[in-house]
Amino acid sequence: MPAETTDKPNTPGRTAPATGIMLRAQLHGTRVLILHPDQVRLDHIQWMLGQHGITHLTLASCPDKALQYLQAAPDTGSEVFDAILVSASLPDDECHHTCRELRRQAGVDVPIIILGDSGNSTEQQYCEAGATDVWPAMEDSGLAHCLTLLLLLKLERTQSKQRDQQLRSELIERKGIEARLQYLVAHDELTGLYNRRRMGQLLELALINAQHNQRTSALLYLDLDQFRLINDAAGHSVGDKLLIEITHIMRRHINPESVLARIGSDAFVLLLENVTIEQVIEQANTLRRALDGFRFETSIKNYHISLSIGVALIEPHETLSADEVLARADQACYVAKAHGRNRVHLFSSDDSSMHLLQSDAYWAQKIRHALAHDMLCLLFQPIVSAHDGIVRHYEALVRLIGDQGELITPAHFIPVAERISLIHEIDMWVTQRAIQLLAKQAPRQSGLVININLSTQVLQHSGLLPLTREIMAKTGVEGQRITFEITETAAIASLAQTQNMLSQLRTLGCNFALDDFGAGFNSYSYLKHFPVDYLKIDGTFITNLVYDPVDQALVKSMIEVAHALGKKTVAEFVENAETLALLKSYGIDYVQGYYLGKPEHTFLT
Ligand code: C2E
Ligand code: MG
Ligand code: MG
Repeated sequence: MPAETTDKPNTPGRTAPATGIMLRAQLHGTRVLILHPDQVRLDHIQWMLGQHGITHLTLASCPDKALQYLQAAPDTGSEVFDAILVSASLPDDECHHTCRELRRQAGVDVPIIILGDSGNSTEQQYCEAGATDVWPAMEDSGLAHCLTLLLLLKLERTQSKQRDQQLRSELIERKGIEARLQYLVAHDELTGLYNRRRMGQLLELALINAQHNQRTSALLYLDLDQFRLINDAAGHSVGDKLLIEITHIMRRHINPESVLARIGSDAFVLLLENVTIEQVIEQANTLRRALDGFRFETSIKNYHISLSIGVALIEPHETLSADEVLARADQACYVAKAHGRNRVHLFSSDDSSMHLLQSDAYWAQKIRHALAHDMLCLLFQPIVSAHDGIVRHYEALVRLIGDQGELITPAHFIPVAERISLIHEIDMWVTQRAIQLLAKQAPRQSGLVININLSTQVLQHSGLLPLTREIMAKTGVEGQRITFEITETAAIASLAQTQNMLSQLRTLGCNFALDDFGAGFNSYSYLKHFPVDYLKIDGTFITNLVYDPVDQALVKSMIEVAHALGKKTVAEFVENAETLALLKSYGIDYVQGYYLGKPEHTFLT
């Protein structure tokens, strides 16, 4: 926009006639260019327009100057002038030419008025040159009204254009939102897979197709085994990244026609249509293996993920609803998890009752009852010295006594007890009972050590320390006869709090073992932070040790690292003589497992 240039400014002090306030407000800021070679006329027009509230005037005494003002405008896309007045006193050719140039540069919307005071051309000729209107010279106030009208019309046109534009962009935006909403109704936002709702619809169709075509289909329920642990430990953004990577892997390993959906935080389902049972199981195992071989890398850790898969068949002879099929696949997945995770389980009718047994409500009631009525008991498994074969430690393993007196293993009730925050009560019960039983042993066994498993939650419970102190004082059992076993999860959950609890228990003389070492994701780094005395190598590295060179290399390295840090090593799950011999050759300190002694009701010495 050129600087406001008036050959002669509007003279202040002159009073304006009463022009409508609203009109003035609307015209305020409109800019008018006036081209007139006669300075006296220019002054007069300027004064007269000023009376009507049109005060932003640019006066040019020759065509070149007028064109200059237009050209000097920056390319903002908006017009520099809202109206242009051109005197017809210019020579005809020059007037027509200037008019054409002004029209070209100003754009179609800007009214150009010829002040027809002395021109020879007809109105039509001026209009052909680009003028909007021709105004007789002497009708001054009429000129002001004509200009006001044209300016208002132009204003109206501009506003209407702006409204159109705004409507258009609102429409585009609304269409975008609608499209996005439509997408979200059917998709999971994070992974881009179908969501539960859409999968439900597709499953309904698959059920109809199965009946109609007399073909078998299948629904696979895929549950990530360690997702919650990673999500809690590494944070939700890492969890999200992991889900996206897993989605990519799964997509690569499925047929493009099969339908994959994410129906829960770490639960996916895969719908396979017109397949045989063999193909379904093959597909499930392909996915399971793909994830088993995958390592999720973050800047600090590598995670190993596995997949438990439940399969429900959709067969033409059976009439099932979509919900029933999903429930079956879910129940089968529970069974896959209960059987040790990282496996595929095909639904059978027995799974429904198994599913009930897995339910939190069932176990919560059982655990509360057991705690209230002393329906828990301890088994003891020997931990044998690999150097001299002597048993100096026993691990206390809790069991829940069932209605028929059967012993229920921790796998059934400890995960529930953790979820419903009853685990610390179990651990406190175990701590108390184990120390009491230790105190009752014959004096010749006074050197025996009891290993007590502690959950992550009890390490954060203020009751553990006073209870241990009290029961030690009552029984006279010394601290060095107690080794607490903790797992890496305790470290992940709260390193500082766990360290604090450990150092307080240590003041009582107790020792510590890091249990299930290597099973977690970053075992070595926790070793540095935990002042443990023993390292218990996870049983999964030991069961196949004789046949697996990778396990052999890992176990050797764990023993070396532990020794370098001044810690003793224990191998769990030693099930045969060959494994024992191999472990001894690696320099293991202690061994534990069915080959050396199963968990029993009493100490075996
Ligand atoms: P863990 O502390 O690693 O205990 C070892 C588990 O391996 C025990 O299972 C034991 O019976 C089993 N085991 C021992 N030798 C062998 C073998 O040679 N082969 C095989 N396949 N297994 C063997 P259990 O008693 O079912 O306990 C499972 C887990 O439950 C324990 O793993 C521990 O994490 C937890 N747990 C047991 N008692 C308690 C407790 O009092 N409190 C807490 N918080 N957790 C407990
Ligand atoms: Mg243990
Ligand atoms: Mg263990």
